[in-house]
Amino acid sequence: MDNYKEYILVLNSGSSSIKFSIFDQNCNSKGRGLIENINTGNKVRAKYHILDESKNIYFEEFDFVKSIKWMFDLLKEKNILDSLIACGHRVVHGGEYFSESVIIDSYVEDKINLCASMAPIHNPVSLNSIKIIKSLLPDIVQIASFDTAFHQTLPKYVYTYPIPYRFYEENSIRKYGFHGNSHKYVLHKMASIMGKNTSETSLISVHLGNGASVTSISNGKSMDTSMGFTPMEGLIMGTRAGFMDPGLFYYIVQTLDIAPKDLDNILLKESGLLGISGVSSDMREVVKAADEGDERASLAVEMFCYKAAKSMNASLSSLKALDGIVFTGGIGENSGVVRSKILDHMAIIGIEYDHMLNEEIVNGKTGEITRMTSRYPVWVIPSNEELMIAKDVLHLVPNI
Ligand code: ADP
Repeated sequence: MDNYKEYILVLNSGSSSIKFSIFDQNCNSKGRGLIENINTGNKVRAKYHILDESKNIYFEEFDFVKSIKWMFDLLKEKNILDSLIACGHRVVHGGEYFSESVIIDSYVEDKINLCASMAPIHNPVSLNSIKIIKSLLPDIVQIASFDTAFHQTLPKYVYTYPIPYRFYEENSIRKYGFHGNSHKYVLHKMASIMGKNTSETSLISVHLGNGASVTSISNGKSMDTSMGFTPMEGLIMGTRAGFMDPGLFYYIVQTLDIAPKDLDNILLKESGLLGISGVSSDMREVVKAADEGDERASLAVEMFCYKAAKSMNASLSSLKALDGIVFTGGIGENSGVVRSKILDHMAIIGIEYDHMLNEEIVNGKTGEITRMTSRYPVWVIPSNEELMIAKDVLHLVPNI
């Protein structure tokens, strides 16, 4: 009984932040926290809500080692640290190596490192956190859960890019897809709502946050997804452009004399809602500006919704049946305006949403927003990627 462990720690490491979540052995949430502005030269802010205590704290400069030590001290004080079953990490890119979560060993570390060229902002910071934790708590089991893993079921004719095949063979250039844990969570939740097995459930899952992606899921398997080799492909996002004419890249570099690295930065950080509206990458602010008569903000919202609907309609091609459409992510969960504009473009396939329900299902609510007469039901389900990781941790490290 002495060895009985109670908690799971889930970490999502970003370039200057760490989000952490605590679950108990039944995967009930016991708290979460965020450390931000790490290594930026600015004051570091940490906030948490754990076991009914909430706090906001500011520190002078902190690096990742100090941040993780601070988090461990906090967990020790709460009697959580010594009772950790394992620690799960969100890792963005697992390439073709991983189709499910795995216990981290030196092989896994090597592969996360190998995939870093495809996720240069994300994979190195996850690996860094993994190594820091290994040095501070050598006995703790660590698990990697990959954003790409859920999409390893994509058919070859979906993931292959129509460029010379040697780029796939020699450089692993192909569609990988992201947001896997979010789409997987939506699948599990929707299957349980409908009383079906995930293997019998077919959906279009629409994650609209700062990043955005549409995934078609056929009988529990990802069949197509809008993000690609990088999370830049697909929908219009907060600061990312999404689908574009590939001919434009050469034109911009050659004719406008913009360096490839700068173009990459423009497409990643200066485009999307921010680039079109000139107002913000935050959908709330763009919608507000549009309501106040700002034409470019209005254009940004129209473009965002049209491109999302276009991708959702296109994803029907990859399905044989459809049980429902699900919105998730910060925008998908909260913006009735955006959802209604998207669904207006889908009336052709028989979607009939209920205006009142669409306005009501926000702020963390789960519910259906379509009428009985709608050909397909449309649901809103708040995402919980951390829960999927915690479940994988328990699966890999049973608490016995
Ligand atoms: P991330 O992809 O970084 O995890 P989130 O899923 O939290 O992001 O989504 C962030 C986005 O959600 C922002 O664009 C924000 O404007 C949007 N959002 C949050 N609440 C609302 C709301 N009430 N109406 C419209 N957009 C919202």
